[in-house]
Amino acid sequence: MGKLSLILFGPPGSGKGTQAKLLKQSLGIAHISTGDMLRERVASGDTLGREVSGIMQSGGLVPDETVNRLVEDRIQQPDCEKGFILDGFPRTVSQARLLEGFLEGKGLRPLVIHLEVDYNVIIARISGRRQCPTCGNVYSAKANAPDGSLHCDYDGTTLVTRPDDREEVVRERLRAYDQQTAPVLQFLKETGVTVWDVRGDGDSPLVIARGLEALIRREREKWAGGRNGLGGAV
Ligand SMILES: [Zn+2]
Repeated sequence: MGKLSLILFGPPGSGKGTQAKLLKQSLGIAHISTGDMLRERVASGDTLGREVSGIMQSGGLVPDETVNRLVEDRIQQPDCEKGFILDGFPRTVSQARLLEGFLEGKGLRPLVIHLEVDYNVIIARISGRRQCPTCGNVYSAKANAPDGSLHCDYDGTTLVTRPDDREEVVRERLRAYDQQTAPVLQFLKETGVTVWDVRGDGDSPLVIARGLEALIRREREKWAGGRNGLGGAV
């Protein structure tokens, strides 16, 4: 079977990062998270990193040209030989256009999955999250003490809310997602790509991942079986 180019869509907090990690293991392909790539850049503290840091803390989106450059370079790394999962990209129509041209040039057809999760669930999930500034471990809302002064299990450091996890920032991120990412799904559908809507809440991450795997294998077998539709049109 050819190289798999999987695009995972979903609002911040929909669990697409978790799903991407599970699918990476079961399918043996690379996981490309633009969020992680950008955070690494911020941690490096160089000029681009400082610029990105300011944008992320205010809940805004990093410019297309910056993200495009990072992704295009990443897709050509050796670990993407068997395929890759794009997590958090494309986020705008302009990014989607670039990706479409790039995949077409490589003879690749994307498989697009859209994880749907209730926004109230997302806000509760993310704004309750706490992180250890020393070791980076993340704790869910359930682990929080009533006074909010939770400490890390490993090193005792007082946990903090990551700046882009604050409730008002999460709301802003969801608003940005609606404005800029929803049209991307529309764009893909118009170009003939099938977008698979899958519920990202209700079941456990493992159950959701198993469902996604079954969907992916089924679609790939269909494609391999010679149903040679253009751009994933069904
Ligand atoms: Zn810690």
